[in-house]
Amino acid sequence: MIWKLCYNSFAMDIKRLVKQNIRSLSAYETREIPCRVKLDANESPYGFSMASKAISKIETNRYPDPEAKELKKVIAKDLAINKKNVLHGNGSDELIYYLIAVFGGPVLYPTPTFSMYGIISQALGERKMSIPLDKEFDLDIDKMLTAIRKDKPGLIFLSSPNNPTGNCFSSEKILKIIDATRGIVVVDEAYQPFASEKGFIPMLKDYKNLVIMRTLSKIGLAGLRVGFLIGDEKIICEVNKVRLPFNINSLSQKIALEVLKNRKERNLYIKSIVSERNRLFNELSKFESISPYPSEANFILFSANEPDGIYERLLKKGVLVRNMKGVVNGCLRVTVGTPGENTIFLNVLKKVV
Ligand SMILES: *Cc1c(COP(=O)(O)O)cnc(C)c1O
Repeated sequence: MIWKLCYNSFAMDIKRLVKQNIRSLSAYETREIPCRVKLDANESPYGFSMASKAISKIETNRYPDPEAKELKKVIAKDLAINKKNVLHGNGSDELIYYLIAVFGGPVLYPTPTFSMYGIISQALGERKMSIPLDKEFDLDIDKMLTAIRKDKPGLIFLSSPNNPTGNCFSSEKILKIIDATRGIVVVDEAYQPFASEKGFIPMLKDYKNLVIMRTLSKIGLAGLRVGFLIGDEKIICEVNKVRLPFNINSLSQKIALEVLKNRKERNLYIKSIVSERNRLFNELSKFESISPYPSEANFILFSANEPDGIYERLLKKGVLVRNMKGVVNGCLRVTVGTPGENTIFLNVLKKVV
């Protein structure tokens, strides 16, 4: 009885001690739904087998290389940039955290887009501002420019290709935004390897307030948590001040290094995913009640007459996709899997629509 009293008053006090912006936040939902074909999280269906070789070289008693020197060298070479322009993160999620911690808000981004920009802004107590995309899912440039003029954002996040819509934003509009703001513009290129356009790395030399994020998560290494920030050396130095010293563990550094060196295998998987994406798009277009949106990423957003029912019936038959209810109403998002997985998805879909 006495224990219970103490416990209750303790629980009540904790809530009161928590900062206001955290109280209204909820923890990121990581529900694991059992399924046969997992096409809900934009992961690659292809892992890397030679990864095991790297593990034996690790000294578990030593701290990892805080600077991830080898890894940065390889990624810099891969992207044909200088390693001084690269900062490593425990996934790009961590880099979003660092960017907002360093540059502050208001944080501006279009919607619908990747949810972490808003969640991390709130966690760090920064004001967030979202502006709806236009009918083509492109940037509403007039509204964006007005917001830039009026609210002077410290940071602007543009995911291109955009998650969950799949399209790249018009480069012209992105450049207009970079020109208009005195804050930092982050072009999040998590899905760039699957896109037909070149991306914004070549623009870095002309735009000093531009930074780019890349990640290994969507090309087969989501489990390792490795992302990169690419930009002017001065920006990299500032963000590096808040980086936790050993933010990428030894195992991830070693395995990522091995995988990055093997460009051939990597490109083979990316090619397969792009050609399967195009097949999926064509097949989805044949359904009368389904309209897929063109995609430059490793997933396809599609609208359906009865999305909730289709989602549930797919899952009953073992196929997990993402229900976009509340984000893009009336839509589901399917990640491109292996040819076999995609065929299963299409066959089951035919049965359930
Ligand atoms: C998946 C995703 C990320 C997450 O990257 P991690 O490196 O796994 O943290 C970042 N940005 C966008 C737009 C994504 O879809």
